[in-house]
Amino acid sequence: MRPARALIDLQALRANYRLAREASGARALAVIKADAYGHGAVRCAQALLDEAGGFAVACIEEALELREAGIRAPILLLEGFFEAEELELIVRHDFWCVVHSMWQLEAIERASLAMPLCVWLKLDTGMHRVGLEPADYQAAYQRLLASGKVGKIVLMSHFARADELGCPRSAEQLHVFEQARQGLVAEVSLCNSPAILGNRLLFPKPLSSDWVRPGLMLYGASPFEGPQAAADGLQPVMTLESRIIGVRELPAGEPVGYGARFVSERPTRVGVVAMGYADGYPRHAPTGTPVSIDGQPSRLIGRVSMDMLTVDLTDLPQAGLGSRVELWGREVLASDVAAWAGTIPYQLFCNLKRAPRVYSER
Ligand SMILES: *Cc1c(COP(=O)(O)O)cnc(C)c1O
Repeated sequence: MRPARALIDLQALRANYRLAREASGARALAVIKADAYGHGAVRCAQALLDEAGGFAVACIEEALELREAGIRAPILLLEGFFEAEELELIVRHDFWCVVHSMWQLEAIERASLAMPLCVWLKLDTGMHRVGLEPADYQAAYQRLLASGKVGKIVLMSHFARADELGCPRSAEQLHVFEQARQGLVAEVSLCNSPAILGNRLLFPKPLSSDWVRPGLMLYGASPFEGPQAAADGLQPVMTLESRIIGVRELPAGEPVGYGARFVSERPTRVGVVAMGYADGYPRHAPTGTPVSIDGQPSRLIGRVSMDMLTVDLTDLPQAGLGSRVELWGREVLASDVAAWAGTIPYQLFCNLKRAPRVYSER
């Protein structure tokens, strides 16, 4: 059997979830959209069932997958509905629903619903992606209440730059939020992973809210670029690993792989690893990207191909056929690989495919 696989440590997932709760002092919706960032939404939800206050996904298709797996906990649809027809299913399955646009509000007013909705009313505080304008927020809140279609409203917004800990923008967004929600007595949800972990550095006084929405941090990767003490307590959940399936000795001056992107500068021992971009390993990772071989640090060399990649074994004489290679996990941080490849750990995780996931409670 091909040795490429992604080990998923559910104990680490739970530890990271607890960290989100402790750091925020709030209830936490575990964000498991995009198949739990590649970790498997149903398995991750089941692992968190006992402690999670609920879950958040991008859309009703993802939410239905969880309900069909028997998960009865609250599930928030982070983009609400895309068509008014979804409202009937939202009510039937008791999903919580973001309202981020006036057209959604109007659709709710027009709908005839068997049960009142739980709405998370999203304010655009400066990210300028989705969310109601501050000037419309109070009126939207009142219209939802007056519609008779809504049982509960949670006030929410989203930070655009919380991963930049020196940046004043998050505090400015918070100020816009506080102005716009004045006088509204309701629960509040603002923080994603970087805002939960960076709270004390981002805001003039510690930001407390009723609900937080941790995503990336649950999976144990730092949302910050570069080392940050605030993220030190996270435990990587996914270990992407494989084995050496070929070894060759090259003299100096020989190319390796497509496009001869690597040419040996000295006699070089090359290991071929069963892992490629079809598994989700980033093709853009350049020579030098860290890997770990039987627990020893080494590096990628040459271009990543679809099913294989090549690593440098020159300084690891003990390593050879069958050696275990960690592409990311506890020895090689996904955020480091992401930085080398010019991307973010979010994308590495979401891109995972083909390599089977193997779950453990450790
Ligand atoms: C994806 C998402 C989150 C989680 O963000 P992380 O940075 O992964 O913690 C939180 N809130 C909203 C609205 C999201 O779309």
